[in-house]
Amino acid sequence: MKEDYYDILGISRGASASEIKKAYRKMAIKYHPDKNPGDKSAEANFKKAAEAYEILGNPENKSKYDQYGHAAFENGGFGSGAGMNMDDIFSQFGDIFGGAFGGFGGGFGQQRSTQRRGSNLRIRVSLSLEEIASGVEKKVRVKRKVQAPGIEYVTCSKCNGTGQVTKITNTILGRMQTSSPCNMCGGSGQIISNRPPGSDSQGMIQEEETVSIKIPSGVEDGMQLKVSGKGNAALSNGVSGDLLVLINEKPHEKFIREGQHLHLDVYISISEAVLGISKDIQLLVGKVRIKLESGIQSGKTLRLRGKGLPDINGYSSGDLLVHINVWTPKVLNRDQKRFFQSMIDDDNFEPKPDKSDKSFFEKVKDMFS
Ligand SMILES: [Zn+2]
Repeated sequence: MKEDYYDILGISRGASASEIKKAYRKMAIKYHPDKNPGDKSAEANFKKAAEAYEILGNPENKSKYDQYGHAAFENGGFGSGAGMNMDDIFSQFGDIFGGAFGGFGGGFGQQRSTQRRGSNLRIRVSLSLEEIASGVEKKVRVKRKVQAPGIEYVTCSKCNGTGQVTKITNTILGRMQTSSPCNMCGGSGQIISNRPPGSDSQGMIQEEETVSIKIPSGVEDGMQLKVSGKGNAALSNGVSGDLLVLINEKPHEKFIREGQHLHLDVYISISEAVLGISKDIQLLVGKVRIKLESGIQSGKTLRLRGKGLPDINGYSSGDLLVHINVWTPKVLNRDQKRFFQSMIDDDNFEPKPDKSDKSFFEKVKDMFS
């Protein structure tokens, strides 16, 4: 059972937005990795709190969670935390700590240098099941913030380019050294000396760029891929953020996905069921020939091993479950009607289920085994 997000943050269900934020801030400070070096349980708590806040701190996610609980974000759903790494968590701090993460009694001495890393960009990419089955390369247009051409910097005189200012205060406990990001350069250690016209206060311009994203086969709805360095650029000598790609799977008109397995309904005629038939089935990639024995029953499921979707790591493939449906004609001509009528009392047409004609419940068990 997943822990309740309200319990993780130690708040009641009626907590206001500012109470949620405050509770998260408290947890983040308490369990911050810089304060608890090497402490795995602190790190786990830190991540748990970040995940809880990502849901409860967002009104839309919060109302979904209030209504459906964790189920609303299952299947690796957006913001489930499944795709969150430490970088994501730190990038979340921007709005919590007002952009400057530091200065908590010196507890954050090892700067996370959020200022030197550009922010992440997020996009959503819709894929058909065919594209998911084969893997695909998608080209997307993204608007990235980049440094304006011609921008020039000088080293910040307040922090001498370190981005940090250290303050020593005398307290009753003795001298305390605290360091915090330099407020003159914002922690980057550099100050813009020449800002090209048309750029924003940080010397950035928006640039449209086509980014090619290689999407491996087997991805699932709600998964998040990362294209390193294709987010917004950072100031001066920092590194660019990442482009986070959220996968959206378009429903398919024939195939139903169940993890790596696929389900397909196939309709055959009464004659085909009686006589048996070989049939070509169009798969997401390529096709396959199936042989139906004479006397096949409606509702039978054929399991084609390895004909489902590939595992994202490429180790294995799921199965294709072909559900056989015998089509009963709705209108008959006179001869057909006469034929079927003559069979009404024929013993050979009486249902005689045997062991091989599994019950519905056994079939369901098979399907999920
Ligand atoms: Zn500075």
